Amino acid sequence: MAQFDPRRQPLRFAPHLLTACAAVAVAGLIWKVYAPAHAAAPAVDLPPLDPAAVSALEAKAFAVAETRPGLAPPENVEVKVRPGESIEQAVRRVGVSPDDAAAAAGALARALGGAPVRAFDAAVARPREGRGGSARLIGLTLRTGPATTLTVSRSFDGAMKLRELEEEVTSEIKVAHGLVNDSLRESATAVGATPVVVNRFVKLYAHKLDFNRDVKSGDRFTMVFERDVTESGRTIKIGDLMYAEIEARGKPSRLYRFERNGKAEYFDETGKNIRGFLLRTPVDGARMSSGFGMRRHPILGYAKMHQGIDFAAGSGTPILAAGDGVVIEARRWGGYGNWVRIRHSGGWETGYAHLSRYGKGIKAGQRVSQGQVIGYVGSTGRSTGPHLHHEVWFKGKRVNPKGAKVPQGTILTGGELVAFKAQKAKIDALVRKGVQETHMASADKAGLRDAG
Ligand SMILES: [Zn+2]
Repeated sequence: MAQFDPRRQPLRFAPHLLTACAAVAVAGLIWKVYAPAHAAAPAVDLPPLDPAAVSALEAKAFAVAETRPGLAPPENVEVKVRPGESIEQAVRRVGVSPDDAAAAAGALARALGGAPVRAFDAAVARPREGRGGSARLIGLTLRTGPATTLTVSRSFDGAMKLRELEEEVTSEIKVAHGLVNDSLRESATAVGATPVVVNRFVKLYAHKLDFNRDVKSGDRFTMVFERDVTESGRTIKIGDLMYAEIEARGKPSRLYRFERNGKAEYFDETGKNIRGFLLRTPVDGARMSSGFGMRRHPILGYAKMHQGIDFAAGSGTPILAAGDGVVIEARRWGGYGNWVRIRHSGGWETGYAHLSRYGKGIKAGQRVSQGQVIGYVGSTGRSTGPHLHHEVWFKGKRVNPKGAKVPQGTILTGGELVAFKAQKAKIDALVRKGVQETHMASADKAGLRDAG
């Protein structure tokens, strides 16, 4: 877009070319439905350009534009091509002369190689009131990509010249922060989020929050995401949602994006993935010592189905609830020794056997949250040594916890936790800066801040 910025226009151009350029620059800045059908359209999520910004740019452009005697200052008209209509016919509907229409449409059609066009912008100078005659065509603008525009404009000799303009695109990290005012969707887009970002945000909390019921006006939200933005301020590409925060029912919930094994997951401040429904490993840092399936029983001596997973860990190691739920059993149960069973949602249950003792307050009927300590590793019941025997039940039947169908979560440990914490610190700094800038901007708007 740089070469068409009216403020930077080289002086060696004739004034009427300047007119054309300025008008075309304006046309290019106004966001429209565009693009020939053949242009591969990436997943674009375009917010409309701020109308105030458009009119400011328009005013600037028209101020430098030379007005021909008898013609009003150029204006920008959106033209939709009707089914079965040629570009030339569409241009003629604007009221320009057949010659102008033929020249401009011909140049555009040649450049597009016959690709269909749905809409374009025409910059025209109409006859002043009370005067007859055709409108003068200053130029045509057609968006061919998220940041590219094709323009046809009149040059000195009256011939139509074709140019492809490319807006500079920069990648940046955006912090969208604010308070919910009726609708999260509207409040978030008002501070720079896009519908795509809001959708990802809502999806991230879907298992936890009912946005209609739990999120109220005045609740605080923050979304941090990468985006590609054009010079004119249009977001043309949305990257990953790096951070999400919502304060619902007075309780903030923060989620950080972190990649492990090449896959992105979202973790809370402590490195716990709450997206997963059941934790893969309900004991911190334990290793699996025996899997699910047929095996020779270590005590009974014959082949028996092992209906759970064993984790080797020292006696007294805390055992964590695999997911949110209600304790339905916390009692001695034959060979299982001290046993805890938790009912989760969706027909899922988890069981924990051979406990040396129960966690604080753990008894039948008690609500527990994921990661809460429900007991300690031991060797009670039929057991050869301290370990956790862990079972997952689905609709009353024991299933293999390693099975792909079990919705699982993760608690980061060791090197992964260190890497996560380093990344979290960076995101926290970005959020602090973004939130501060947002508050300063709104204070400016409200006139609460001293000048200077
Ligand atoms: Zn076992």
